[in-house]
Amino acid sequence: MNSIAQKSRDELWKVARMSLLQTLRFAATVHLQKGAMRFSKEKLEQVQRARMQKVVRHAMAHSDFYRQKFRSINVNKFRLADLPPTTKDEIRGNYDAVVTDKRLRLAELQSFIADSANLGRWFLGEYAVTQTSGSQGAPLVIVQHRRCIELIFALMAARSSVAKPTLNEAFQRLFRPRKVAAISFRRGFYPSGMTLEYMQELLGSFVQVTRFASAQPDLVERLNDLQPAVITANASVLEALAMHPDRLQLKSLKYLTSSSEELSEGARTRIEAAMKAPVFDHYGAGECLQLGDGCPRCRKLHINADWAYVEVVDNDYQPVPAGTTGTKLLVTNLANFAQPFIRYEIADCIALSAENRCHGNPMPQIECIEGRAADLLCVNEGNTKRFLSGIMFHTVFSAMRGVREWRVYQRERNRLEFQLQLLDAATIAGTTVEEQLTGRLREFGLPESVIVEVRFVPELAPDPKTGKMRRIINEVGWPDSTTDSLQRVGELKH
Ligand SMILES: [Zn+2]
Repeated sequence: MNSIAQKSRDELWKVARMSLLQTLRFAATVHLQKGAMRFSKEKLEQVQRARMQKVVRHAMAHSDFYRQKFRSINVNKFRLADLPPTTKDEIRGNYDAVVTDKRLRLAELQSFIADSANLGRWFLGEYAVTQTSGSQGAPLVIVQHRRCIELIFALMAARSSVAKPTLNEAFQRLFRPRKVAAISFRRGFYPSGMTLEYMQELLGSFVQVTRFASAQPDLVERLNDLQPAVITANASVLEALAMHPDRLQLKSLKYLTSSSEELSEGARTRIEAAMKAPVFDHYGAGECLQLGDGCPRCRKLHINADWAYVEVVDNDYQPVPAGTTGTKLLVTNLANFAQPFIRYEIADCIALSAENRCHGNPMPQIECIEGRAADLLCVNEGNTKRFLSGIMFHTVFSAMRGVREWRVYQRERNRLEFQLQLLDAATIAGTTVEEQLTGRLREFGLPESVIVEVRFVPELAPDPKTGKMRRIINEVGWPDSTTDSLQRVGELKH
């Protein structure tokens, strides 16, 4: 008995020590990322060049795919523009040759993420595995070292905060961790869901993370009970919460972070007025989660240019000047060595600011992001309104097999028509897809009163102008009463 008690004491002590070490390690990483915000333009370029060289050198040494792709490049002397862009199809088609750690095999990574018991676990003890939602074509499995996930959190903490933590405060936080409410649609291996699984472990004793599901009916009450200092959720979830300003009593709330969806100025105003705290946006793609973080000084997003090299280009991969919206991005992830993404094509249309007027962060500002809007639909549920966000649909479809493309039309307030293009090899019976889809939508809070119709179509094509797939089409507008109440929420600020 005594030996069991001794053993569990030893075990507890070991966990506490590990947690303290991780906490200190995280604090040091945040400190380093804060330091980079004082870089001069020259220093930033120097750091970018050095990291770029390191990634390319590593890729050419350890990835058969990149060795072949860059075979005409002199690794000691190359310009970025010399490197041919990389596409998702190339990475998907050559997976095992792309990754640089030969122990990483697509088949094993796929079976790892097929088992939800592996959520929050590290593959081979050191890698996080995620799968993109397929919102821009077929899904892609992405693997990155634990240090990359730590970096993502450290960048958010360092760059979306004005606080200058003192040693005393850090010490106090060890004993009184900051309460974080993390709201998601469901647990899963999709990129933003995956990172949340590791948040508690990586941030150590500084935070106490409580998870919530956006569809849970008592969400507001549970948040009021918890009194979180930080809330992290998708923009549409925050917007839906902001619809109940009178029910929210979040007295300890310091700030909110939103990700996965663009935060419009209107939405930000409404959320900040209802929550009485600032919202910081986070910008990432599954292939490079640390693309940008919201700035508390200028309120814009800054590219984390020391860890993500972003080129805004046109359809022919030619750079467009700052201030002009490109049709795609070429992204080089300067942190991921396990699965290198070098001049990797992402179909986001963004414009960088022509001039950075921010006092505090010298990294490039994003002027606007198009095609990432939180496509919100509003349906009736009894006498109240329920918001259905784009990310909810993306989440539902990412978990469905056999669907190549999808689009949803809100034909009437409570009637949704889904158009689906199935994979060529899909042998699923029509009714099964319908049942699966309806079941999952209800799970995420789609009211029973909303009619779901499914149509199978031979092809769903992207918008010929933007090359982007428009997936959520609102044909009925927002109800007048909603506009009124949204305005009312906005007015509270004044
Ligand atoms: Zn700024």
